[in-house]
Amino acid sequence: MAKKQFKAESKRLLDLMIHSIYTNQEIFLRELISNASDAMDKLCYLSLTNDKVSVNREELAIRIIPNKENNTLTVSDNGIGMDQKALEDNLGVIARSGSLQFKNDMSETEIKPEDIDIIGQFGVGFYSAFMVSESVAVITKPYGSDIAYKWESTGADGYTITECEKDTVGTDIIMTLKKDTEDENYSRFLNDYTLRNLVKKYSDYIRYPIKMDVEKSRPVENKDKDDEPKYETYIENETLNDMVPIWHKQKSEVTDEQYNQFYKDKFFDYEDPIKTIHISTEGVISYEALLFIPSKTPYNYFTKEYEKGLQLYSSGVLIMDKCSDLIPEHFRFVRGVVDSQDLSLNISREMLQQNRQLQVIASSIEKKIKRELSKMLENDREKYQEFFKHFGIQLKYGVVSEYGAHKDNLKDLLLFYSSTEQKPVTLAEYISRMKEEQKYIYYACGETITKIDHLPQTEAIKDKDYEILYLTDEVDDFVMNILHEVEGKELKSVNSDDVVDKEDREAAQEQTKENKDLFDFMKESLAGKVKEVRISEKLKSHPVCLSSEGNISLEMEKYFAQMQSDQHMKAERVLELNAQHPIFNMLKDAYENDKERANKISEMLYNQAMLIAGFSVEDPTAYTDLLCELLSK
Ligand code: ADP
Ligand code: MG
Repeated sequence: MAKKQFKAESKRLLDLMIHSIYTNQEIFLRELISNASDAMDKLCYLSLTNDKVSVNREELAIRIIPNKENNTLTVSDNGIGMDQKALEDNLGVIARSGSLQFKNDMSETEIKPEDIDIIGQFGVGFYSAFMVSESVAVITKPYGSDIAYKWESTGADGYTITECEKDTVGTDIIMTLKKDTEDENYSRFLNDYTLRNLVKKYSDYIRYPIKMDVEKSRPVENKDKDDEPKYETYIENETLNDMVPIWHKQKSEVTDEQYNQFYKDKFFDYEDPIKTIHISTEGVISYEALLFIPSKTPYNYFTKEYEKGLQLYSSGVLIMDKCSDLIPEHFRFVRGVVDSQDLSLNISREMLQQNRQLQVIASSIEKKIKRELSKMLENDREKYQEFFKHFGIQLKYGVVSEYGAHKDNLKDLLLFYSSTEQKPVTLAEYISRMKEEQKYIYYACGETITKIDHLPQTEAIKDKDYEILYLTDEVDDFVMNILHEVEGKELKSVNSDDVVDKEDREAAQEQTKENKDLFDFMKESLAGKVKEVRISEKLKSHPVCLSSEGNISLEMEKYFAQMQSDQHMKAERVLELNAQHPIFNMLKDAYENDKERANKISEMLYNQAMLIAGFSVEDPTAYTDLLCELLSK
């Protein structure tokens, strides 16, 4: 028999194909299974349009037959098969897709093109078999014919077609596999375990059963009566795939239990998700999605190891394991799958050709997640608080990221601890409780709720019965700065100098002027540690507090210090004194009569203000000595 040659371009293309299109050898199985599924689909479509064609759908199945002795793997189907011309056209010409042709042909019939859900379209998938095979034989018998054919090739060298024997209609693809190493007896693609996993991973939702004989063992009665348990091995013809993806089902057909089990199996969590979102939409681009919010922060969530993304399927075949474009950074905790028939895949089917389709889906998904979270916030506050405990910080990072591009979208989802409600509240709830004359939304940052509650600066605001938001996350101060205002209400730190009434402020300014000499002296004695010393309008019963001027707040300074960045971000400190406090008179007295003592009191007051603001004093021993010295005189 004469060997027919691939055309020159074909030869190069095949080489290119085998070595560069696919990043992953293992997808060859996905491609052959997809072809088998297409072949059976074609038979079914044919029977719909042609009375003479009858199929028994029940009997259609894909078989995977590993043979370790011969080092061969066979993928077999009872689909439409190929005649000699089809073999020449489809397997002899690279990048010719019989399946695409079939779809076009079907457009002449009453079946609508969008209803034809055939996977193949590029005409290259078959050749991926050569990535793992030394040679490939295709034995096929077309529907309605008595003659079977055998196509054989070692890849680059062309192919032969001969007539042969085959009892049943359909196609067997027989691959003689490459061995990974010389001394291996057979390829790793012949292990039951590997094959089962590959089917699960890529082809779990192929609509026909994928069957394989699997060796199993079962306990048998022990006739010897010793205590050793006895087992026998037997062969079971196992169906490897689930066939119907859970997300294709109606919500009413799936129990919570089933959703949870699916989540745990697929994403290796041992706890149920806190929220399941099942989406099925039709529109410019139709898709189905099944999304989950984990109930706890994954252990590696804040490490580089954690990759965001959703699994992307096209008509039930896995395309991408972690498609990160489908989920915005601020919802990166969401896991799940997306399935769409409307994607234009690239030739390797590992990527998409068009990003626009992804963008449409991604933006729709983002809206759905936001809506579900809002619903939870409204209807199940306890659950939402639990969610927020784990992922609230992610939402806050979302607010500050990209210069606040997402802040309007996310601000309603934020919770902050309220001084008056003594529980987390939303900004909207705060606003609804604001006093008539109250201008600002007040907040205070600190390490713990208790510490913030005791901050001297909060006193004046509490006196007016205003609510204060207590912020304990490092990022909170940035969040407030980026948000700046909500519903026309400005957000104000209790450290700001205009938190109180105008009269109070003017009085404080007046007193500051009166004591200018003293304050200049203090500034000098504190040797550059503070930018300014002044009388505070905020303090009621406490002697001192620390505040800041300029763009960097005290909280930001702490945050940057923790990041250990090279940049030395320091707040400009302002030491604020309470003119009503006895210590202030003592200070003034010392300033007039004993400058040395005034020096020491300044030092002490500064250190106290530092402690209250949550900083540590530079030299605790010196500070303690100083206090004791002052007290004992
Ligand atoms: P595609 O699936 O994208 O069309 P392939 O290279 O995977 O490209 O397959 C090329 C063509 O070979 C298919 O379009 C189909 O016509 C034919 N073919 C491949 N495998 C089979 C099979 N098992 N049964 C029938 N036809 C097949
Ligand atoms: Mg194919």
